[in-house]
Amino acid sequence: MAKLIDGKKIAGEIRARIAQETASFTAENGYAPGLSVIIVGEDPASQVYVRNKKRACEEVGFASEVIALPAETTEAELVSRIARLADDPRVHGILVQLPLPAHIREGAVIAAIPPQKDVDAFHPENVGRIMTGHFDLLPCTPAGVMELLRHEGIDPEGKECVVVGRSNIVGKPMAMLLLHAHGTVTLCHSHTRDLAAHTRRADILVAAVGRVRLIRGDMVRDGAVVIDVGMNRDENGKLCGDVDFDTVEPKASAITPVPGGVGPMTIAMLLKNTLTAARLAAARERS
Ligand code: NAP
Repeated sequence: MAKLIDGKKIAGEIRARIAQETASFTAENGYAPGLSVIIVGEDPASQVYVRNKKRACEEVGFASEVIALPAETTEAELVSRIARLADDPRVHGILVQLPLPAHIREGAVIAAIPPQKDVDAFHPENVGRIMTGHFDLLPCTPAGVMELLRHEGIDPEGKECVVVGRSNIVGKPMAMLLLHAHGTVTLCHSHTRDLAAHTRRADILVAAVGRVRLIRGDMVRDGAVVIDVGMNRDENGKLCGDVDFDTVEPKASAITPVPGGVGPMTIAMLLKNTLTAARLAAARERS
């Protein structure tokens, strides 16, 4: 039977630590770390994500604000709103909730966020830093997976690490972080021939695809560590991952559930990035 990696509990511990460190930061500097979250339009899922982020910020003692803009906001208006936040010394993190309405170019908006306030770490400069390994801010979901592995004492060094999914926000940076941790990394995607031949070799398998129960027990080797990033709705509308838990769990040595695995870590890493950005800004102000 696999060890269940309890992301909810681990994220709770991280949040408690961040709350303590935030109290020290605020006492030392006379202001709290500040996060501004911009949401454009009324996508219901995005509204839930943004509400959760705001609540998490309040719990750890950040100064947070949600800027809700109408769906017809132009790209120029959004960029100029970001520019105002970029100039505000008490805003340490700026996050634009994705997806944006179709008339706004995501790349142009991400590029408008100063890299040092880019707490999602999607800006090309931060992406480049992830490639070279000289980073301060990491994309929240892959960073959350690395924290889970660290917490469980699972060291990727020398291991076969297989990542399924190559998105810019999860799969690619995930592969890069496992590579920095000295794993031997294979990155699979929708054009991969014989996916199972790759996944069966994995000591550490990360599924970040967005396909209900794509990874089945016969695709996983005995004793593998299986991390399920997927957040999907099954045929009954129930939240489920990319991994078929019932057939994979008996073979794995450790596995994350959905929900309660990677999901809670993502917000914990957003808080960590915001505190890091605030600390770096404070250090720049002092120097
Ligand atoms: P995405 O941008 O849609 O990327 C999906 C990736 O999976 C693509 O690289 C695609 O390949 C690949 N893929 C699709 N079908 C495949 C197949 N049959 N075999 C192998 N690869 C296949 O998705 P994403 O944003 O990375 O998100 C992935 C999943 O993680 C989603 O369920 C999402 O909801 C979830 N997610 C969870 C969190 C969290 O906090 N837990 C955060 C972010 C995302 P191509 O590149 O060839 O198209």
